[in-house]
Amino acid sequence: MIDLLQQPLYFAGCAALLGLCVGSFLNVVIHRLPKMMERQWQAERAELAGTEPDAAAERYNLILPRSACPHCGHRITALENIPLLSWIMLRGKCSACGAAISKRYPAVELLTALLSGYVAWRFGFGLAGCGALLFTWAMIALAFIDIDTFFLPDSLTLPLLWLGLLLNLDAAYAPLHTAVIGAAAGYLSLWSVYWAFKWATGKEGMGYGDFKLLAAIGAWLGWTQLPLVILLSAMAGAVIGIAMIVFAGRERARPMPFGPYLAIAGMVALLYGEALTRAYLGPL
Ligand SMILES: [Zn+2]
Repeated sequence: MIDLLQQPLYFAGCAALLGLCVGSFLNVVIHRLPKMMERQWQAERAELAGTEPDAAAERYNLILPRSACPHCGHRITALENIPLLSWIMLRGKCSACGAAISKRYPAVELLTALLSGYVAWRFGFGLAGCGALLFTWAMIALAFIDIDTFFLPDSLTLPLLWLGLLLNLDAAYAPLHTAVIGAAAGYLSLWSVYWAFKWATGKEGMGYGDFKLLAAIGAWLGWTQLPLVILLSAMAGAVIGIAMIVFAGRERARPMPFGPYLAIAGMVALLYGEALTRAYLGPL
C-alpha cells in the first residue's frame, strides 16, 4: 500500500478521490460553521442578559441534523449524497420537490478534487504532502466562508497556524525560526495596513480574520514568502475586482472580502513560492 502511494500518479489519484469526499464535507463546513458561530454568540448574549437559554433549540453541528432539502425538508439519502455524481444524476434538482440545488456544491467538490490531486502530485506522498492537502482544504473552506459571511472563523485560522508551526518543527515547508517570524510578521503587516488605512480614510479595509489568516500562511511558508503572498493577493484582488466591475457591473464602493485573495495567494505560494521568489530575486 505504502509502496503504491509512493508512485506520484497513484497518490495524486487517491488524493483526488479523497478530495471529492472532503469537498462534500467542506460544503457542510462552509454552510454550517458560520451558523454555529451565530448560535454560539446568541447563547452568550442570552447568558449575559440573564435570560434562559432556548432549551428547545435542536442540536446543530457539523454532523447533526442530517442534510435536508431547504425547500421541502426531504432528507438527503446516502445515494443522493455521492459527491458530484449525485448532483449530475439528479440533474441539479431535489428528488422530492424538484427545487434547484446550487451549482456551488458540485463546484466546491470538483475544485477540492482537482486541487487535492495536483497538490499531491507536486508534493508526493509523505508528511509534507499530507500537510499540504490539509492546508489546501482549509484555504477552500476559508475562502468560501469569507465570500458568504465576511468572516474568517478563529476555529479554522488559529488551529491552521499552530499546525503550520508544528509541521515546521522538522522544516516541512520552512525552517522553524522562519515560520515563527512568519506568523508574527503576517499578523503585524496586515494589522499595520489596517490601522494606516483606518487613520487615513476612517474606513475599515479588512478585518482581524485577515491578519490571522496571513499569520497562518506565514507559519506554514515562512516570512520569506510573505511579500509574495501580499503582492499576489493584492494583484488577484485588483484583477478579479476589475473583472467584476467590467463584466458584472458591480458598484466600486461595495466591499469585497479579502480572505479569498489571501487564500488564492497562499495556494500559489505553497505550490510555486520558492520558484517564483528565485526567479525574481535570482539564486539566493
Ligand atoms: Zn426538496
